[in-house]
Amino acid sequence: MKFLRNIPLALKLWLVFFVVIAIGMGISYLLAERATTQQFIVLSGRRNLEQAQLLAPLLAEYYAQHGSWEGVQSILERERPGRGKGPPWGDPWQRFALLDSGGRVVIGQAPAEISREALDSVGVPIVVNGVHVAWLVPTTGMEHLSRGEQEFLRSTRGAILLAGVIAAGAALVLGGLFLRNILAPLRQLENASQRLAQGDLSQRVPVTGRDEIGHLAESFNRMVERLERSEKLRRQMIADIAHELRTPLTVIQGNLQAILDGVYEPTPNVIASIHEESLLLARLVGDLRDLSLAEAGELRLEKQLTDIRDVIRQTITVIEPRLASKRIVLTVTLPDEPVLVEIDPQRIQQVLLNILSNAERYTPEDGQITLSAVNFNTEVHISVTDSGPGIAPEDLPYVFERFWRGDRSRSRATGGTGLGLAIAKQFVEAHGGRIWAESTLGKGSTFAFSLPICYAG
Ligand code: ADP
Repeated sequence: MKFLRNIPLALKLWLVFFVVIAIGMGISYLLAERATTQQFIVLSGRRNLEQAQLLAPLLAEYYAQHGSWEGVQSILERERPGRGKGPPWGDPWQRFALLDSGGRVVIGQAPAEISREALDSVGVPIVVNGVHVAWLVPTTGMEHLSRGEQEFLRSTRGAILLAGVIAAGAALVLGGLFLRNILAPLRQLENASQRLAQGDLSQRVPVTGRDEIGHLAESFNRMVERLERSEKLRRQMIADIAHELRTPLTVIQGNLQAILDGVYEPTPNVIASIHEESLLLARLVGDLRDLSLAEAGELRLEKQLTDIRDVIRQTITVIEPRLASKRIVLTVTLPDEPVLVEIDPQRIQQVLLNILSNAERYTPEDGQITLSAVNFNTEVHISVTDSGPGIAPEDLPYVFERFWRGDRSRSRATGGTGLGLAIAKQFVEAHGGRIWAESTLGKGSTFAFSLPICYAG
């Protein structure tokens, strides 16, 4: 069947159709023809027997008159048993054989070997004065059918054949329509995917039904839509990255140029600002790397069984000096018992640090931040609530998107890359958790994430 693989689908389906129709037609013809012929032979045998029974008394009368079978043919030329007198009906001795009491054929064609018992069962006895003088044996079989009967059979076969040809024709017409129905959407899909391969992402195919081909068309359209969206996102991301990298680079270049031109003195202040921009650049590149790894699912997590309270405590020690300098009060509530989670502690610490850094960044001096970890059945929820400005409801859905920043200039001025929450989301999801935000404008925000708890045993 290997050779079939290189034949176009349409031709393959046509071939299958032809073969199936030819086989169906052949079998129906053979079966119908056999059944008709057999039935016909049985019927003609039965009629021969009936006629033999009608003929037997005439023959007995002939024998009684003549004392022998001499000239007996003439009787059948005159008589038409069962139908009264009339014209001869073919050669009657094809329908019967006359066998004398010794079993010898007097006239007609008898079956090759015929015993006395068989004669009694198939033959009609001719009795003259109480003596069996002969048997009239009706014949059966194709070769004993009259010319009229054979012609009738021939025309029946012709009719069966014609019916078969008409049925095959109808099957081919219907099959052709059916194939067109299948092949047209497949061809559209083929053309669309070829154009897609050439980079045309606007390709869509019409969904013609709810069958497998309809589902295929739907999946194709969904796939292209996704491709188009991710292509748009990719372009947007390249534009965003280029834009984000350009800003600190422009500042560094401008400052250095000013020093070279003698506009600025290379004072520690100027050098510090250049250094600050280079740090932002480095952070941006690092964040982008982490984010792209996480989005590609290639983030390597060095997971270990950890008490989440330890990670929280360590993160607090990192952020505490910054909070203290702004006189922000941090209230921490942790469970009394250890909460074991299987995590990469570095990554989860970074998630918490990103959230706490934002809280610190957006909370005014003398503000408050609350950090809590609470167990909910199979999860632990870690949440950070601040007394900052809050986030507008229309902005809330976008805070986890990369490069989204509520206030660009303010965020940049405080060292934000617009990637902190996007990275946090990717890291949390890589651990099988969720992250979310709630906020009331003017009151503050809560950023929280969940992690699955590991119970021993
Ligand atoms: P950025 O580096 O700009 O902080 P993030 O991804 O960490 O980037 O945050 C995205 C945006 O979400 C921020 O620019 C800010 O507008 C908003 N945001 C994040 N955390 C807070 C918060 N605690 N209070 C108010 N706004 C916040």
